[in-house]
Amino acid sequence: MQQPIWRRISATRRGAALASVTALALAVTTSASTGRLMEDAPSAAGPVSAARGAALGPCMISGAMGVQMSEGVPTQPGYARSTGTVRALNLMVDFSDAPGEGSAKDRLAEFFPQTSQWFRTSSYGRLDYRPESPISGWLRMPKPFAKYGIERGAPFDPGYRELVEDIVAAADPEVDFRAYDLVNVLVTPNAGPSALDTVLSVTFAGNHEAPVADGVPVANASFVYSRQDDGSGSYHETGYRVLPHENGHVFGLPDLYTHDGGGAVGHWDIMSEDWGANNDLLAWHKWKLGWLDDDQVSCAAKAGTTEHLLTPLARSGGAKLAFVPLDEKTGYAVEVRTGGGNDEAVCKPGVLVYRVDADVDTGHGPITVADSTADSGGCTRRPNVHAELSDAPYGPGETFTDREKGVRVTVADATDDGVHRVHVTRP
Ligand SMILES: [Zn+2]
Repeated sequence: MQQPIWRRISATRRGAALASVTALALAVTTSASTGRLMEDAPSAAGPVSAARGAALGPCMISGAMGVQMSEGVPTQPGYARSTGTVRALNLMVDFSDAPGEGSAKDRLAEFFPQTSQWFRTSSYGRLDYRPESPISGWLRMPKPFAKYGIERGAPFDPGYRELVEDIVAAADPEVDFRAYDLVNVLVTPNAGPSALDTVLSVTFAGNHEAPVADGVPVANASFVYSRQDDGSGSYHETGYRVLPHENGHVFGLPDLYTHDGGGAVGHWDIMSEDWGANNDLLAWHKWKLGWLDDDQVSCAAKAGTTEHLLTPLARSGGAKLAFVPLDEKTGYAVEVRTGGGNDEAVCKPGVLVYRVDADVDTGHGPITVADSTADSGGCTRRPNVHAELSDAPYGPGETFTDREKGVRVTVADATDDGVHRVHVTRP
């Protein structure tokens, strides 16, 4: 149910909105294997596999079998572990027609230590991300870059398979692939087009048909190409953010942007927008990844009105997520977003309400944020932040309503330290 999940987005010019490309369903290329393979694969447990309390059962929505990469909880097996110590193998790769400029260590330093710190902060310390680079120099591929046929949306076969086989052959003498949970291939930025024109970066996640190294398939691998430098002068602070996005796929998270861009979720999740100012993940994703305990989640499954006291997502501890299941596949999530932690571009703190549909595949809009102020133009003008949804959160006295489903989410009040009292009414 998973296979290549690639990234999107070509930022047009600096400050401009992001255009994007549809994430292609790869079922076509590897049709025979997807689905069944994962069930049989003796892979490590998925990110969230612990038994759940019965109270949360109705909130553990799941998608149909054909969904490649779903918002369902728990995440399907086959992805990398997202809690505890996770060892990431980093390989800096170059080509005869794109020789590495500067040192490979400098390339690595474009992503670390920020990526590890990003995961530490977002996971409240539950993901201890250890980047390792046993080969400190550029790993030269045997063929020129152009020969691999790597382009945006390219499937795993044949180009990426060849590239991974060549990477394994070149690295194997010095690397024990069994020691790692995931692989980051940090390609020299001068290979392929500028990220301003075409973003090639891609992750192949849960791909147990990948070439085998030291007896294990290179099943979860992220590839990062040219720099996401929008020219605003913030590359050194924000350029690494493509890697936590790509690794999000390795942990089983779908893309939230669609072929229309980031308008479904805006800057509220790094799986929606990974350019520009730092941002966090939605609480739904944190629960999915095992970064929230079940007692930090409340499930509003019963008819009537329930009260939920929610603490800001950026702060460790306390209740974070209320979920209103509509059926076995969909529901509304409710959380409190404020500035702090990884969220640096929040211009209207408050209660974020969004619809989660586990039956909608990656890149097709599995999550949609409700905008408390539709067509307002938003409250930010920061580059690469979807403006319209920046003031989406609901404040005290405001109510989200889904008339069709009979669901209401009202923000009753908020304390000075950001604890919001929310009333959920449902049939
Ligand atoms: Zn992506």
